[in-house]
Amino acid sequence: MHLQALLGLSSLALAAIVSACGLEGSEHHHITIRDRSRDENEIQDDKFVTRGFKPRCGPEIGKCSDGYCCSSAGFCGDTQEHCKSPDCLMDYGRCDAHKRPKGPPTSTIPRPKIGNVLYGPSIIRSCNVPGTVALTYDDGPYKYTQDLLDLLDRYDAKATFFITGVNNGKGQIDDLNLPWASLIKDMYLKGHQVASHTWSHQNLTRITSDQRREQILRNEAAIRNIIGVFPTYMRPPFSSCDIASNCLDDMGSFGYHVVLYDLDTQDYRNANPEAIQQSKDIFDRELSYWKVSEKSWLVIGHDIQEQTVYNLTEHMLRRLTDDGYRAVTVGDCLSDPRENWYRKDNRIISGPNDKTPKAPPAGNKPVSTDGTCGANHTCIKSNFGPCCSSHHFCGNSTQHCGVGCLPDAGYCFSPNTTTLNITDSLGGAVNTESKISAAHSIYGATSKAGSLVGNPALTLGRPLSMAIVTALVGAMLFEL
Ligand SMILES: [Zn+2]
Repeated sequence: MHLQALLGLSSLALAAIVSACGLEGSEHHHITIRDRSRDENEIQDDKFVTRGFKPRCGPEIGKCSDGYCCSSAGFCGDTQEHCKSPDCLMDYGRCDAHKRPKGPPTSTIPRPKIGNVLYGPSIIRSCNVPGTVALTYDDGPYKYTQDLLDLLDRYDAKATFFITGVNNGKGQIDDLNLPWASLIKDMYLKGHQVASHTWSHQNLTRITSDQRREQILRNEAAIRNIIGVFPTYMRPPFSSCDIASNCLDDMGSFGYHVVLYDLDTQDYRNANPEAIQQSKDIFDRELSYWKVSEKSWLVIGHDIQEQTVYNLTEHMLRRLTDDGYRAVTVGDCLSDPRENWYRKDNRIISGPNDKTPKAPPAGNKPVSTDGTCGANHTCIKSNFGPCCSSHHFCGNSTQHCGVGCLPDAGYCFSPNTTTLNITDSLGGAVNTESKISAAHSIYGATSKAGSLVGNPALTLGRPLSMAIVTALVGAMLFEL
């Protein structure tokens, strides 16, 4: 998503999440109230202080103690909420983005600029094959992505996935204990286009050239570890990569096509079942102005958004099919042959056809056909959702994928986002709005007024209600 939309998003995001989670009314008001002076007093009393633990961090304070992460709001800690990208402050402590993919770096691989499609510093904003629509999805893969792939199959549609290596606390995409690698492999084998959205979703304009290099090369290595090749197409996070910072030149020197869009669905703004109608209206309105024979479209959406996967995408597929458009990849809508979409790493023998373990282990269980799951049936690839709840039903909600989710019968939300860890990182008063601001801030600049993330004084084992857990998991899903 782009930088412009990034700013000033929190109130709208909060409204969307509160509505989606059914938290309107007094309970919502209760969880957003925060007494800042009380928090600060508790910091002083906290036992960590007496042990030399640094509670705060950031540009005017400095780094956390060794091994601790600096949250976007400037608190030190070691929970997923402190350490997850893109919010974690990389210059002031440990972050999950500091991890490196295994295997040799891709830096020595030649990067000839083949084909007719422009490379950086040029920016591609539109397709050029009339009658085509390139649906693109940023920030994934995520727990909805399998269902999106199945939906695209039903319409014989191809799409492009701008993949982030480690964001939203989902872990590394090439970690075979997580479901992402097998999803990316499926995308690739089905003919979708796998493209880069950088390693940890930093704002490329605001970081150094060396940091940009790491953002590009680490994602290349991770994708290479999964499918044996890495992309020549990328989309900068927040659509932010300018000339002045040298970012666009850097992308060109790494041999990338820099891809933006000409139809923004604004799905991230409309992330609830009612509001998503506005994204449908945007799509319909844009298409209605043009003849199919004269026009093509490059559409941006996000497969980390539930409504995008389960609501908006099918609307778009129906509409473009009815109008006579073809849903193709970005490479196809630019007439770029598939062999130009990737660079091969010949040092790596593994490729997408290797029998690497899938996670979670589904064994040879048959796919659930009636929505039940457990010892005998898996939810993976079922029509009811990819996760198996503790009550043995398939679905895709936090009740299915979160606490109690059965990992042997489907996908589960990252174990680090269970109640326990959320409780550990949050504890008492919870400021949901600050959390959302922090999630959308760059280096935490927008969330100085309070923090859902990171005050260790507030973390000591207070259980959260399920409603709050639901709200928080919902908030975590509201990424860019
Ligand atoms: Zn993004």
